Amino acid sequence: MTTLAGLEDPLNSWIPLTPLEEMARTDYDVIIVGSGAGGGAILWRLCERWRNNGMRIGLIEAGDLLLPTHMNNLAILSGGRAERFMANPEITRRIGKTLPEFSGAKQVLALGGRTIQWGNVTPRMPLHILEQYPVPPNEMQFYYGIAEQAMNVMKSFIPNSSLQHVILSRLRINGYPEAAAPPIAVDIKPTQFGVVHSNAYFSSIAFLAEALNRMPFDLAVNARAVQVLTEQGKAAGVRVMSLDKKTYIVHAKTVVISASTLETPRILLNSGISSSAIGRFLIDHSAIRGTAIVSRKGFPEILEPISIIIQETKDRPYQLQIFGRERPSHEEMGIIIQGYGLVEPRAENRITLDPYRIDEYGVPAVQVHYTYSQKDLNVIRKMTAGMRKAFSAIGATLVSMDGQPELCLRPPGDDNHESGSCRIGDDPATSAADRYGQIHGVSGLYVADNSVLPFLGTNPTLTTVALAIRTADRIIHRASY
Ligand SMILES: Cc1cc2nc3c(=O)[nH]c(=O)nc-3n(C[C@H](O)[C@H](O)[C@H](O)COP(=O)(O)OP(=O)(O)OC[C@H]3O[C@@H](n4cnc5c(N)ncnc54)[C@H](O)[C@@H]3O)c2cc1C
Repeated sequence: MTTLAGLEDPLNSWIPLTPLEEMARTDYDVIIVGSGAGGGAILWRLCERWRNNGMRIGLIEAGDLLLPTHMNNLAILSGGRAERFMANPEITRRIGKTLPEFSGAKQVLALGGRTIQWGNVTPRMPLHILEQYPVPPNEMQFYYGIAEQAMNVMKSFIPNSSLQHVILSRLRINGYPEAAAPPIAVDIKPTQFGVVHSNAYFSSIAFLAEALNRMPFDLAVNARAVQVLTEQGKAAGVRVMSLDKKTYIVHAKTVVISASTLETPRILLNSGISSSAIGRFLIDHSAIRGTAIVSRKGFPEILEPISIIIQETKDRPYQLQIFGRERPSHEEMGIIIQGYGLVEPRAENRITLDPYRIDEYGVPAVQVHYTYSQKDLNVIRKMTAGMRKAFSAIGATLVSMDGQPELCLRPPGDDNHESGSCRIGDDPATSAADRYGQIHGVSGLYVADNSVLPFLGTNPTLTTVALAIRTADRIIHRASY
């Protein structure tokens, strides 16, 4: 284990790093690929439960030490600087440019994955969606509880905003009785020093910090996993490449791939893993952004935050999220509604390897085959009408902002909710992994990220974290025999 003091670059040593050379000499009990929502949750749960019992855990992360926390926790990145920083093509790669059917797709390679910039909205999946999961609903609720506690999910983030109350009551009176403040992973609980929080917005880096407080683990950054190694139907380790393209074999009894919905099937397909559902059943939300203005007459003078969620139901196959936006006018303010429409999982919506394009690590690029079914297009139509109704319930008038249409259908992949490409399920023909996230037919090889979600009815991350914690418990259980 490399200590902070032993690192060559002390400026980058706020988290202990281990050279790949050293990791290649270690036999790990568990190796995790990717440090985003899924990878961070697995790591935290394993460290939390194993403590110092001699188990060896390694974490392989393709990205660098970009930020030590969520971008919103850094004052220097306020005032719109965070968005500009993250939009840097060195940080957010718009890989959708080469994917005509999934043209909004982005890739963020960094310690913490996309959780260093996510919006922290953390609802549970609606029950009618959960009922289709292979995990019993009561077990899901149990793991949701653990995930919410670990991520500091607050149920009422902005309880004192009177503007929020006015908009909520307009929605509730005008046909949306279930409109509510969204649960959000932001820690505003008082501490022994009062309400003091340097790290209020949750990111997966908080998982890494909590894990380190429980037991040591080895972490390599700028380390790209390119293949999973198997021996006689069992996971055996990972082939990893450094920035200077040296190859290392890291051995482990259990391998967890948490590299994101597009990257996880890419690694598995590049490893020749034979489960036929890998890459299939890709889902995302159909996403519409609507912009409007509302008169400020009748509101208190001070602009306060608005954040409202109207969750998907069995009869309304879309979710609405409503936000306020500053307008340079004393008479009016901006309102944004994000609509997220249900997309049915279909085998033909899938990720494959591009036989003609190979990246600098020798790994074939992803191809994404993705179209909307007739059912999906009907949802988009209903959602468009529903958004108009919600704007009118608030008393807002649709206007175009930022040169975009008033109601703008965003390109697939643009909302960062893509999921399902290694979905869990009992039937190997329609799911890449079993109900615990283990790849069908390969003992000790697990997936734990958005790719495991078989259906998507709301923002994905809380469900991914809950399932990842459950997968960690399974690994712990299996290791004890
Ligand atoms: C601006 C923004 C706002 C969002 N808002 C919300 C929200 O409010 N609510 C919500 O639920 N979700 C939101 N999301 C989505 C949320 O961030 C994702 O659902 C979540 O991070 C997905 O977790 P993951 O583990 O699947 O992938 P990621 O968090 O992307 O983690 C994948 C990790 O794998 C690493 N990696 C990739 N390839 C390799 C490789 N070959 N070898 C090693 N490591 C690799 C990456 O660097 C990364 O660390 C938002 C995302 C963005 C960008």
